[in-house]
Amino acid sequence: MNKCFICNKNSSETILDLGMSPIANNLEIDIDQSQTAEKYPLNLSVCRSGCNHVQISEIIDQKKIFNDYFYMPSVSKTLTNHLKEISKEINKKFKIKSDTFILDIGSNDGTFLESASNFSKNILGVDPAKNLSDIANKKGIRTINDFFSHKLAKKIKNKYGSADFIISTNTFAHTPKINDFVEGMKELISDEGVIIIEIHYLGSMIDDNSFDTIYHEHFSYWSLNNLNNLFSKFGLNIFDAYVLPVHHGQLRIYLSKSKKYKKTKSLNDLLDKEEKEDLIGKKLKLFCKKVLKIKSNLLDLFEKISNDEKIVYGYGAPAKASTLINFIGENNLKYIYDKSHLKQGKYLPGTSIKIKDPSEIQYDKPDYIFLFAWNFSKEIIDDLKNNFNFNGKLIIPIPDLRIIDID
Ligand SMILES: [Zn+2]
Repeated sequence: MNKCFICNKNSSETILDLGMSPIANNLEIDIDQSQTAEKYPLNLSVCRSGCNHVQISEIIDQKKIFNDYFYMPSVSKTLTNHLKEISKEINKKFKIKSDTFILDIGSNDGTFLESASNFSKNILGVDPAKNLSDIANKKGIRTINDFFSHKLAKKIKNKYGSADFIISTNTFAHTPKINDFVEGMKELISDEGVIIIEIHYLGSMIDDNSFDTIYHEHFSYWSLNNLNNLFSKFGLNIFDAYVLPVHHGQLRIYLSKSKKYKKTKSLNDLLDKEEKEDLIGKKLKLFCKKVLKIKSNLLDLFEKISNDEKIVYGYGAPAKASTLINFIGENNLKYIYDKSHLKQGKYLPGTSIKIKDPSEIQYDKPDYIFLFAWNFSKEIIDDLKNNFNFNGKLIIPIPDLRIIDID
C-alpha cells in the first residue's frame, strides 16, 4: 500500500501496473542520455481508506518534472481556441471589468491570460517552468515563476489583493500537495470570487481507454464526487460542472466560498451518474482489464507491419506518447513527427525515437503513421492531407484501434 495524497494514510492500493517509465516531458538532445534516462514505476492506485482517491503510487520531485517544460497549448489551434473561449465565457457569465483581478495558476506560456487581457488589464500568472514563464513575461504577461502553494498565495494577496477569478487549467492534477494547493486558492479568492478548474476527467479517461494520460506529472485522477468531497472540506462549494470534449475529456468546475451561486442541474446529474455507474469501483476495474488488451493488440499490429517490411513513424510527441511507448516498447518506430520546434531534434524519453519536423513526411513517405496525439486526430488528419501530402495509412490506437486510409 502507498501513501494517499489526500488522507495521508498508507491505504492506496495499486490496480494497474504500466511498467517502468521515465519523466514523460523530459526530452533529451542526446540519444544515449535519452535511452539511459532514469525510469520510475508507473502505477495507478486507489485509496481504500474510504476516501477513494485515485492517484499514481510513485511521487517524483516536482522540480525534476516542471523546471523545464515543453507542453505549450499555443502550438495547437484547438487548445488556443479553447483557452480563448474560457475568457469569453467568464465575461458572458460574470461580466469582467477592466480592473477585475484574474489569476491563472499553471499559466504556461500565457495563452489564456493573453485572451483575458482583452477584458481586464489586472492579470497575473503563476507557473513553475522557467522557460515558459520567460516566454510569457516577454509577451508582457506578468508571470511569477514558482509553484503555487498556500505560502505563495499569501504573498500574492499581500501584494495584489484578493483575486476575483482564479483559473487553473490542467494544473490541479499536477500537484501532490493537494490540501496545501486548495488552502492557497481559498486564501486568495475574494468572498464572492469564482474559481474555475479544468482537469482531466477520470470518467473520460475510463470511457476513452486513455491510459496513456497516466504519467508521473499527473499525480491525481479526479471524479466529480471526489472533488466535491475535497472542496467541501475547505468550505468551497462547487456550483457548476460539465465535461468538455477537448483534451480527451476535460471536467470544468466552478467553485466559490459564497453560496449565492445556485447548484446547476448539470452538476447534480454528473454526481448521480458517477454513483450509478460505480465509477471508482466496477468501471475502473474493467478499464484496467481493457488496457492490457490494448497492449496485446498493438504488439500484434507492430509485428505484422514489421513482417510486411513496411515503415511506420509516429505523429505527436505529447507526454502520453512516452507512457504508451514505455508500456508497449519501441517496436520498429524510429521517428515521431511533432510541430513543436521545442521538441524537434530531441528524443522521446527513455527511447531512441527522434522527434522531427512534420514537413519531412513528404520526403520520408512512411507507409503508416502511428498517431500518439489521437485526441487531435481531426486537426492532424487535415494537416497530413493538406500540408504534408501524406497518402498512407493512419493508425489511431485509442479509444479503440482504428486504421484509416489517408488519400
Ligand atoms: Zn485516502
